[in-house]
Amino acid sequence: MRRKLAAGNWKMNGNAASLSELKTLKDLLPPNPPQVVICPPAPLLFRATEAARGTDIMIGAQDCHMQHSGAFTGDVSADLIADTGATFVIVGHSERRDTHEERDSDVRKKATSAWASGLTAIICIGETLDDHAANNTLDIIAGQLAGSLPDGMTTSNTVIAYEPIWAIGTGKVPTLEQIIEVHDFIRAKLVTRCGAEVADMIPLLYGGSVKPDNAATIFQAENVDGALVGGASLKATDFAPIIAALA
Ligand code: PEP
Repeated sequence: MRRKLAAGNWKMNGNAASLSELKTLKDLLPPNPPQVVICPPAPLLFRATEAARGTDIMIGAQDCHMQHSGAFTGDVSADLIADTGATFVIVGHSERRDTHEERDSDVRKKATSAWASGLTAIICIGETLDDHAANNTLDIIAGQLAGSLPDGMTTSNTVIAYEPIWAIGTGKVPTLEQIIEVHDFIRAKLVTRCGAEVADMIPLLYGGSVKPDNAATIFQAENVDGALVGGASLKATDFAPIIAALA
């Protein structure tokens, strides 16, 4: 059976005191929880892995550099992320693609770097509102998959997050039919790319305004194996019901 995963992306929110949410979340987790990953800002990674020790919660970063070391002031390598005890890293989030002009080829290199450091890469893809309105979603997704996914995907080193950009932080969510269509399409592309055995086991997350009141509906889709959650992951009392809907 495919593993289920709920990943929380804190973005540039929270501080050291916010890590108390991890303890609250641990206490609110359902029995036999799905995998849970919290991705706090990079300066909190060390403390977050400490705070999560002995719990079912795993820690991830929100980005990594494509090189392992060197003269890249302000950047953080996958090696350094792994050194904190974190085990996941998000790459290609639309906010990175937008504000840091990251291209598919950059995302692919970052994912490769993440793997080399032993991290699982959560590779994000998703279309703009204009592309959605013009019915170009599947073409955009196909292009992003072709460009962003490195060769060598395994069932443990890769998670794919479909995040329509127009749904992120907006309160807008595609219909269940639209989510099903895109996730089925991604799964089919993965089969072509890495064979049915691997493709069937790679978790596909939906992301974009997932909240406690819509999570159960979204998780009805057969090829939705979890969620990448922004705003609703900041408070354990919001994130826990989303996780429970997945369990
Ligand atoms: C995200 O940041 O990846 C995200 C999906 O944000 P939100 O849940 O707030 O829409």
